[in-house]
Amino acid sequence: MKYLQSIEHYSTTRPHAPAIRTSAGERMSYQELWQASEAIAQLVERTAPSADSPVMVYGNKEPLMVAAFLACMKAGHPYVPVDRFSVPAERAASIARQLSHPLLIAVAEAPFEVVDAADAVLDAAMLRACIEAGGSSSHARWIDGEDLCYILFTSGSTGAPKGVEVTAGCFDGFCSWARDLGGAPRDGRVYLDQAPFSFDLSVFELACALATGGSLYSLTHETQASARGQFEALSSSGVNVWVSTPSFAELCLADEAFGADALDGVELFLFCGETLTNATALHLMERFDGATVVNTYGPTESTVAVTDIVVTPELARLDMPLPVGTPRPGTRLRIVDEAGADVGASCWGEVVIEGDTVARGYYGRADLTEAVFGTAMLDGRLVRSYRTGDEGRLDELGMLHYRGRLDLQVKLHGYRIELGEIEEGLRRLPGVSAAVVTTVEHGGKVSHLVGHVVADVPADTSAFRAGLAIKDELKARLPHYMVPKKIVFHDAFPMTGNGKVDRRALAAQGR
Ligand code: AMP
Repeated sequence: MKYLQSIEHYSTTRPHAPAIRTSAGERMSYQELWQASEAIAQLVERTAPSADSPVMVYGNKEPLMVAAFLACMKAGHPYVPVDRFSVPAERAASIARQLSHPLLIAVAEAPFEVVDAADAVLDAAMLRACIEAGGSSSHARWIDGEDLCYILFTSGSTGAPKGVEVTAGCFDGFCSWARDLGGAPRDGRVYLDQAPFSFDLSVFELACALATGGSLYSLTHETQASARGQFEALSSSGVNVWVSTPSFAELCLADEAFGADALDGVELFLFCGETLTNATALHLMERFDGATVVNTYGPTESTVAVTDIVVTPELARLDMPLPVGTPRPGTRLRIVDEAGADVGASCWGEVVIEGDTVARGYYGRADLTEAVFGTAMLDGRLVRSYRTGDEGRLDELGMLHYRGRLDLQVKLHGYRIELGEIEEGLRRLPGVSAAVVTTVEHGGKVSHLVGHVVADVPADTSAFRAGLAIKDELKARLPHYMVPKKIVFHDAFPMTGNGKVDRRALAAQGR
């Protein structure tokens, strides 16, 4: 795998250069990272229940998380990152069960439900002891080509998260494209690492930083919990490449002091995952004079991102939403109608991605895979294709414009959410007979979710208290960002003329 070869190269040519620093003061040099991942790889080889079985890696932003990811790549196993703050215990356990009881690398202490659903557990003390003792991986087991690199679990409309299977080839291909975004990389750049490792945005910095001899500056959950602490950490981070969702940058922009005076090293902003508004791009260009802003687009199913565009002030000042860019080499985009036929030039339709970044499918879910993944011929090669569910248009320059979703998937503060998964979670609660989740938008973005339920509320309980109880139940099962802000009780849902629940009418009632 080219990615591992690059890191091996830096571990010998610049052994003491930092590979990872965290806002909690932890650090790991290239040599330490390499040696730690070698030793852990040997342990994984010995402990995993079967060859190439998935390995769940549980924690937050500890450098050992990254060492464990590399170890899995070296030992021939896909890693499944689970962020302990974004993924509640019950959900993590359900992921482990979907993986048929995997080896669990618990960098941070895992809740008993998760341990219970694992085949065996390697905890932080065991990892440290094994690193101390040293060890080496066998190159023959390193993943390559069609071997799975990682499985990322993302919200699923049928009520359970689904695991996107990304191959070593997809990952290497993404690395060699993404590292040059915004211009050929300078040696030793510092990349912001903010998104939890269970979201594919974090693959951006993991791939780019370590493939170019740069380093990650990881913001821990604790640091991100305090605006002041986060600002101070960012100011002293030396970050050169900012990788985040637009939402995170907007949160930072709310602080007047967020600009080049406080973060003087930032030279490049890389965005992905949700709409980058003209206003946000312009604010950033004003506050960070001379920095390059790049908008990229893509789903987890196509390895982070497949299009890019450098946003200039002239483009951002135009009275039209920013385009999301042109496809990277090795990717073809098609715009199709409901029947899957190409629409006319410059017409809106569903975006289909074809090429060497498209994932293999959803782990253990041939039914879901078949519904959206397929194959296509591209430049004489058979490649995979993926129907995104995104509504888009290709203009005469081959530039992709994005208009939203064709289904009930939404983005809230950059997090991908299937409303259907929350609805299913609500329906499973005692006393709830029907559930619909709607969104409230502000400034063109989803600002919060509203859960509508038809439910029995005991006579001595107020709707407010009953709503709180429902939210508490959901919190135990779903990530915090999927819990609706407000629960509205109905005797019955309004219906449209063709007998479906009238989501629009409900949305109007839920504001
Ligand atoms: P995720 O799998 O979490 O990366 O979410 C993928 C979805 O995010 C895509 O299918 C789009 O709906 C949305 N998305 C990704 N990039 C952009 C972008 N640059 N602008 C608008 N929406 C985006």
